[in-house]
Amino acid sequence: MKILLRRLGALSMLAVASLGTPLAQAQDKVLNLYSARHYQTDEALYANFTQATGVRINRIEADDAGILARLKAEGSGSPADVILLVDAARLWRGEQDGLFQPVKSAVLEQRIPAQFRGGVTPQGAQWFGMSTRARVIVYDKARFKPEQLDSYEKLSTPAVKGAFCVRSGSHPYNLSLFGSMLEHLGPQATEAWLQGLVANMARPPKGGDTDQIRGVASGECGVALSNSYYVARLMRSGKPEDKAAMERVGVVFPNQASWGTHVNIAGAAVARHAKNREAAVQFLEYLSSDTAQRYFADGNNEYPVVASAATENPALVSLGRFKAETVPIGKVGANTAAVQQMLDRVGFK
Ligand code: FE
Repeated sequence: MKILLRRLGALSMLAVASLGTPLAQAQDKVLNLYSARHYQTDEALYANFTQATGVRINRIEADDAGILARLKAEGSGSPADVILLVDAARLWRGEQDGLFQPVKSAVLEQRIPAQFRGGVTPQGAQWFGMSTRARVIVYDKARFKPEQLDSYEKLSTPAVKGAFCVRSGSHPYNLSLFGSMLEHLGPQATEAWLQGLVANMARPPKGGDTDQIRGVASGECGVALSNSYYVARLMRSGKPEDKAAMERVGVVFPNQASWGTHVNIAGAAVARHAKNREAAVQFLEYLSSDTAQRYFADGNNEYPVVASAATENPALVSLGRFKAETVPIGKVGANTAAVQQMLDRVGFK
């Protein structure tokens, strides 16, 4: 236990449920989950699975990079069964590093569109998107009109000079958006576009997506990028300051007239050295069930990957329907190394 704790400390991880018990107990029906999901509302998602199957979940939380590093360090001794990551590029990286194993499941193939399955082999896919999130443009309604910002390309136009706010360019959410732009625009235009974003910044990149929305609400920023669920979370907040903030902030789903808004995924994979493979596959199938899909939408304001899943989220309803891009999400992941080099060249921190 001490060794485990020390290792957890070294990788700055947080063992949520299970520090009191060893991770992998052979006879127990148990599932060891390494999760980069950082959403409080997920508790019900896991509890529901345990209730339905009797399989207990040990969960360790870290960010995507921490989880991948830990899996690599642990090698074949890793107790991990299921990996949950919140970005396509990271899932792609895990696949490239041989950290997952293919899963062949009629349920998953039927429920999850091919676009959101990655590392597809004859033995099955290496990972599966379970929910999607749109990367939207938020703006100060007092300073901009939505027509000025109805595409990602327009973020680099002179109209946005001194107004653009964004989290670090190297954050997976941005790397994946930029990887998608590379797919659509090609290398030259993408690098020129990134240079334009740098030229338009109101401040050096900092904070998370919510900080960018708050920056727009405070007037420090005129325009920003955010994942849709952060917007929806503030829309649903009961706090007066959040309500006031969202009065001032407009939301655009970019590129409706062209290829569609960039959507990223949160997804799941079975670990290469999973000791509880059967329960792991069962858990993935559960995540694609109507019940779980509903948790993603109603609990965490994400969009279900299963088109037929019913949801009841007033914020998502009010944001409205939109056209999403259809580029295979695995390609986006594969582009992120080239994108990082562009960011270095144009000085996008
Ligand atoms: Fe997030």
